Amino acid sequence: MKLKVLGTQSPYNTEGHNCPGFFIQDGNNRILLDCGSGSHSLLSYPCDLENLSVFISHLHRDHYNDIFNLQYSSFVFHNQKRLQRPIDIYLPSTPSDIVNDITGESNSYANYYNINDESRLKVGNIEISFCKMDHPVETYAIRLDNGERSIVYSSDTSFSAKDRLIDFSREADLLICESSLLTEYGFPEINSHLTAKQAGIIAKQANVKGLALTHFWPEEDIHKYVDEAKSVFINVVALKEGQVIDVPTVDRLER
Ligand SMILES: [Zn+2]
Ligand SMILES: [Zn+2]
Repeated sequence: MKLKVLGTQSPYNTEGHNCPGFFIQDGNNRILLDCGSGSHSLLSYPCDLENLSVFISHLHRDHYNDIFNLQYSSFVFHNQKRLQRPIDIYLPSTPSDIVNDITGESNSYANYYNINDESRLKVGNIEISFCKMDHPVETYAIRLDNGERSIVYSSDTSFSAKDRLIDFSREADLLICESSLLTEYGFPEINSHLTAKQAGIIAKQANVKGLALTHFWPEEDIHKYVDEAKSVFINVVALKEGQVIDVPTVDRLER
């Protein structure tokens, strides 16, 4: 499995920095975890739309804004007979007005499916499972397992869901974990987002091989997130747009 990082920033995109998006390719199977503002610009069209399954972890703008770009591109490439099958879009079932907005888009070439805590899917040989997180809207962490390697994406979550996220991430090769906050901001421990230190605690207790931090505040110095997480977990990196990680090499992320 190869991960290409499309976006690491929130709540808005700036030049060179997009809102969350993670593109995973395993053979001919393509999986996109979230498609936040600007993230689609790092995809290759139309080839990355072929055999593509998109998973939207939750319906906050910074995680789904670019779905409309994908739907319309899929529509146009299909009309040009350059795309053979519709893209598959998986999303939570609430908030219903946003679900209806996405699934009601007529100029699209897509299939739609709801996800929940019990959903178990297979895309090619990749097993995909979900775990509900604590966040102001229905939100799922997502785990991909191809029998040899595994990636877990935390989505957005409060530290109150840490025990579930630790169990769900156990022994994963790579944990892509949000670290929206720094301890120095002085927020209470239980917030709707994690600090970098809390991400480190989750990685350590889940015994993952590598921790990849994401969901950074646009004005913040990225090194601060890495330093804070490193105080509890050694093998950590801050993700960057355009970065490619070959998952079997996660034992030393900062090469
Ligand atoms: Zn969110
Ligand atoms: Zn977010």
